[in-house]
Amino acid sequence: MSDCLFCKIANKEIPSHCVAEDDYSYAFLDINPSSLGHTVVIPKKHYFSISEMDEQDLGFLFAMVKRVGLLLGETFDSPNMNIGINQGSCAGQEVGHIHVHLIPRKANDEGGSIQSVVASYNGEDLSETVERIRASKNKNKNKE
Ligand code: AMP
Ligand code: ZN
Repeated sequence: MSDCLFCKIANKEIPSHCVAEDDYSYAFLDINPSSLGHTVVIPKKHYFSISEMDEQDLGFLFAMVKRVGLLLGETFDSPNMNIGINQGSCAGQEVGHIHVHLIPRKANDEGGSIQSVVASYNGEDLSETVERIRASKNKNKNKE
């Protein structure tokens, strides 16, 4: 996509600090790091979210996430990190090209877990919740 920041980074039209690259994926340092070594991994092809990705590209993306995770673990001498995707504006996605954040963590760094991004659970019974999710699954099946 011509006006996408991360497409431009993947195409080297905009400079970045490349951490790793293959034919399908590109990993670079986040310009506003949450911790030392904070890296972003993107597919070279433009997708907004994982829902749109074909499964092969998804496999390539997560193979790169694994490689970069190992690399960061070696570099900073610790396998601790948060690995996550902000999907959609309500979830904090600012750049509309899917990307996986790898945020290295250290003991006593005062950060939280991924679950700490929100605490909006309304107390609904979990069997009711799972029924609703299953009903969507059946609705989609009937559409096929
Ligand atoms: P998100 O909120 O998940 O969309 O995160 C987008 C991330 O991209 C943020 O953490 C930004 O700091 C990062 N970012 C934005 N522009 C650049 C850039 N030119 N180079 C590297 N990282 C960037
Ligand atoms: Zn893009």
